[in-house]
Amino acid sequence: AAEVNHHMLTADMVAAYLRKREGSDHKGTFGHALLVAGAYGKMGAAVISARSVLRAGAGLVTTHVPRAGYEIMQISFPEAMCSVDVHKYHFTSVDAPSRYDVVGIGPGLGTDEATAKGLDRLLKEYARPMVVDADALNLIAERGWIDRLPRGSILTPHPKEFERLFGPTADDFARWELQRDRAMTLGVIVLCKTNHTSIATPDGRLYFNTTGNPGMGTGGTGDALTGILTGLLAQGYSSEQAAQLGVYLHGLAGDLAAVALEQESLLAEDVVRYLGKAFGHLH
Ligand code: AMP
Ligand code: MG
Repeated sequence: AAEVNHHMLTADMVAAYLRKREGSDHKGTFGHALLVAGAYGKMGAAVISARSVLRAGAGLVTTHVPRAGYEIMQISFPEAMCSVDVHKYHFTSVDAPSRYDVVGIGPGLGTDEATAKGLDRLLKEYARPMVVDADALNLIAERGWIDRLPRGSILTPHPKEFERLFGPTADDFARWELQRDRAMTLGVIVLCKTNHTSIATPDGRLYFNTTGNPGMGTGGTGDALTGILTGLLAQGYSSEQAAQLGVYLHGLAGDLAAVALEQESLLAEDVVRYLGKAFGHLH
């Protein structure tokens, strides 16, 4: 394990990926993301991740939400369009997903049987990279669908979700090795979200994040990361670049928010609010 090809993420590395906006750019230039998130009692996850998609710079976001979540989303985040599920309480199916530049799925989704069917259909119909998080990962783990993900997709498990997906490991070194192996075999980006989030890419590299703080150990910060990654992919960043830039910016936004508000009081929405300041540090 000692010879693993690994790199620490630095501001200079990820700043080099940033695209400058041209005067003639418009919302069509920055992509249209579909976010499939939220269920009854978990609409906050959908709102936080949707806001993060646009704070990361995407042109448009459509959130696919259950009927019970429609007003919540429209009132909490008027910048997002809504696609409304036939089901009142959770995700069951989305029409023509291939018209979107990217799909982010998972935050607050729940693991209902009908939700699994909807995910099954989405995996059949959507061929471009997706960001896959939370309950979408749990469903994929349960059903053994891991090899159905489009190449270049970004998986964002925390250590428990990672174990459900790929099985247990003896220590961190074994986990990093497994993470790298899965990324190479599956042709996807595999994150493991910790206090030093690791990013494994299909070419066998392993990156470690250097931003973030324990104030981010609060509900919803992972949902913010899902939105940020989805928003970066919408803009045409490669999966490798989006993963490195997104993870770095997310931690940096948390660090800047903690300077202003202190770690104890940090909310996921504060991380989202400081994302612009994090971009500013890279300009
Ligand atoms: P989740 O477990 O899905 O809610 O995601 C939590 C997010 O907060 C991940 O992006 C973690 O990397 C981040 N996070 C949690 N605790 C810490 C910590 N102590 N230091 C840095 N980042 C953290
Ligand atoms: Mg999470």
